[in-house]
Amino acid sequence: MDKRTKFVLDEEEIPRYWYNIQADLPKPLPPVLHPGTGEPITPDDLAPLFPMELIKQEVSTERWIEVPEEVRDIYRMWRPTTLFRAHRLEKALDTPAKIFYKYEGTSPPGSHKPNTAVAQAYYNKQEGIKRIATETGAGQWGSALSFAGACLGLEIKVYMVRISYDQKPYRRIMMEAWGAKCIPSPSPDTKAGRDMLAKDPDCPGSLGLAISEAVEDAVSRDDTHYALGSVLNHVLLHQTINGLETKELMEKADAYPDIIVGCIGGGSNFAGLYLPFVKDKIDGTKPDLRIINVEPASCPTVTKGPYAYDFGDEAGLTPMIKMNTLGHGFIPPPVHAGGLRYHGMASIISHLHRLGLVEARAEHQLATFKAGVTFARTEGIISAPEPMHAIKVVIDEALKCKETGESKTILLAHSGHGHVDMAAYDAYFSGKLRDYEYPKDKIDESLEQLPKVSIK
Ligand SMILES: *Cc1c(COP(=O)(O)O)cnc(C)c1O
Repeated sequence: MDKRTKFVLDEEEIPRYWYNIQADLPKPLPPVLHPGTGEPITPDDLAPLFPMELIKQEVSTERWIEVPEEVRDIYRMWRPTTLFRAHRLEKALDTPAKIFYKYEGTSPPGSHKPNTAVAQAYYNKQEGIKRIATETGAGQWGSALSFAGACLGLEIKVYMVRISYDQKPYRRIMMEAWGAKCIPSPSPDTKAGRDMLAKDPDCPGSLGLAISEAVEDAVSRDDTHYALGSVLNHVLLHQTINGLETKELMEKADAYPDIIVGCIGGGSNFAGLYLPFVKDKIDGTKPDLRIINVEPASCPTVTKGPYAYDFGDEAGLTPMIKMNTLGHGFIPPPVHAGGLRYHGMASIISHLHRLGLVEARAEHQLATFKAGVTFARTEGIISAPEPMHAIKVVIDEALKCKETGESKTILLAHSGHGHVDMAAYDAYFSGKLRDYEYPKDKIDESLEQLPKVSIK
């Protein structure tokens, strides 16, 4: 029997280029539109928010984009990450399926997010920017950017969604340990925050609203830019460092996935893993490859949201992106997978879904925790609530293999550990965790607010 459990690359094998799917899409992405005029956005429109290198990456159709040496040197702190074969989970499920997972929980902040945080901080620093404002949901992005700020000497201000700020104090303290400032959103520091507090002083906040606050902060100061931890094309681009490593490692394991499974909030960790594989599906070498995007049933962006132009934030300050969306005013129920509580989805994922190249599934919180605990008791890793969504689907697919006797190869994108999510585990073990109904009426109400856009 093949007992090999870990597949590793040498530090020198960290990829030197990121992979840009825009070079290989069968149809180009729809344009991003200016929030005021409805016209396609220009680089100058985005310059108050992002460094020019990132704006170029956003629309680039070059297949390979070089990873700067300084970024690659910081990646050496935790990359390449390990590919595991889940022998113990396979055994517990008594499945003939072969389960692999690529684990991003070994980065200093504990998730995939520093892959882009470090790159974004680097390009901002190159342009002379001293300070970055951002939002965070569960706190992973805020802590990743705080870590990147510490690596590159930039000041970081984080607007953290209030519900998570209250539920997850340890993420805030991590940000402070890396030298950043973190305040709950809605906050009194911006107009968007003050307006919401006037309407609802107990507002639990949402990612969309926190983005409005961070964008407002960034445009109001010359020394400050904004950074987004997911959704945008350049973020997914940076995350392909993980997918490129995974492809190498699967070759070392003498395997190729039949099914790839991951969780999607804004889509960056999972797309980062699968985009280099999607290429094989587009060019016809692997037509049967299945890619399953898993989202929470309480925030069913791809499975229930229309494919339409919408703002990235609550206040409608950001450009309009064509994507699957639940409407920018939608405030998702307070599930513990804070990183999956976002109304929109990466344009790239929405586009691939539309083209039929990837599929989507929605899962309820309780079932995902059950799967997450099974994973902890077999593979040992205490998962964050986000990747538990993917683990649930991996287990379902492995059990299907048991029924049919097929020995499929299943690859899981494991986005991070849950060491600062133990309160959520506690709620699950004490029976306090519950599922939230699919909030159809709230979604319908929010979809009525979608901007009316006509493309000339
Ligand atoms: C932020 C986060 C997610 C969701 O964000 P994506 O951009 O969809 O990857 C998933 N898992 C973890 C651990 C996260 O921190």
